[in-house]
Amino acid sequence: MGKTHTITLIPGDGIGPEVTDAVVRILEVTGVQFAWERFAAGAGAFEKHGEYIPKELIASIERNRVALKGPVTTPVGGGFPSINVTLRKKFELYANFRPIKNLPGLDTRYPGVDLIIIRENTEGEYVGLEHEVVPGVVESLKVITEKGSTRIAKFAFEYAAKHGRRNIHAIHKANIMKMSDGLFLRCARDVSKGYPDITYGEHIIDNTCMQLVMNPYQYDTLLLENLYGDIVSDLCAAFVGGLGLVPGANLGAEAAIFEAVHGSAPDIAGKDVANPTALLLSSVLMLWHLGESGAAERVQTAVEKVYTEKKTLTRDVGGRAGTREFADAVIAALG
Ligand code: ATP
Repeated sequence: MGKTHTITLIPGDGIGPEVTDAVVRILEVTGVQFAWERFAAGAGAFEKHGEYIPKELIASIERNRVALKGPVTTPVGGGFPSINVTLRKKFELYANFRPIKNLPGLDTRYPGVDLIIIRENTEGEYVGLEHEVVPGVVESLKVITEKGSTRIAKFAFEYAAKHGRRNIHAIHKANIMKMSDGLFLRCARDVSKGYPDITYGEHIIDNTCMQLVMNPYQYDTLLLENLYGDIVSDLCAAFVGGLGLVPGANLGAEAAIFEAVHGSAPDIAGKDVANPTALLLSSVLMLWHLGESGAAERVQTAVEKVYTEKKTLTRDVGGRAGTREFADAVIAALG
């Protein structure tokens, strides 16, 4: 029998518990041994434990170094700080990795898209330093450091070199934010010099959005600051069928948290209609990370089979199946 992987599991809220349940059921039949340590986070955790991120959850990630996480609702305009952002900062998960690739058999706006989004995950506007200077005037700090920018640029170039990617574009607004985005660009440019086989380019964020919609094939790997990466991820998700499909990994030296790009989608929560593919493909990234390449390939192939057959797809991609039914189809495809 193979090694048992102990994984911290955060089902989250909104559609989180439904998609997490589907993914865990699928992973359980891959033959890989898992021990799950389940924790609530956010509003649900506060009700039970009086803490938004229970200490036991932090200790569990420290021990296991790998977590699978469903979305956790972030209150808008007030309330507690984002759980996602807090965990990324706490464990210095500086690289947010989001592959955008078409699934076979699924008709989308653009066929054959194969983009990698690498988003800096700990700095920029997400440092959460906002204050009211005088009534009616608020300051929000955007923090860009040489260390953080160099670290994410190295991650991007290393990834590109290892996986045979052809080019990297650093995305910026350094014409306006000359110092902060200027520093991000300078670091990316310096790192690029160590990788002469990878073409390096720089595009302004607003033009990039237009260029992406006109012709997404001109890009290969996008290197972005935190906020630009957040926005461009959702834009690119639309190329391949929407937020129900795009996986993600938050990676650092000490830990890795795998989670979908989408949020808790309260509009469809509890109805058994959410598409669990995004979290499932995030778990495929987790399987690769754990060294379980055989299981990773088998789950990927099973997902592709279900999409190619088109019989058991969820509503967001034009089907009529529920979350559970889709998971059953993937389990059947795993054989
Ligand atoms: P956040 O602000 O937390 O990042 P978001 O802006 O990405 O969230 P979501 O909650 O992810 O927003 O949802 C955006 C839209 O996409 C909603 O209409 C939602 O129903 C849809 N959606 C998101 N995830 C899924 C999914 N897994 N399956 C089907 N539809 C989804």
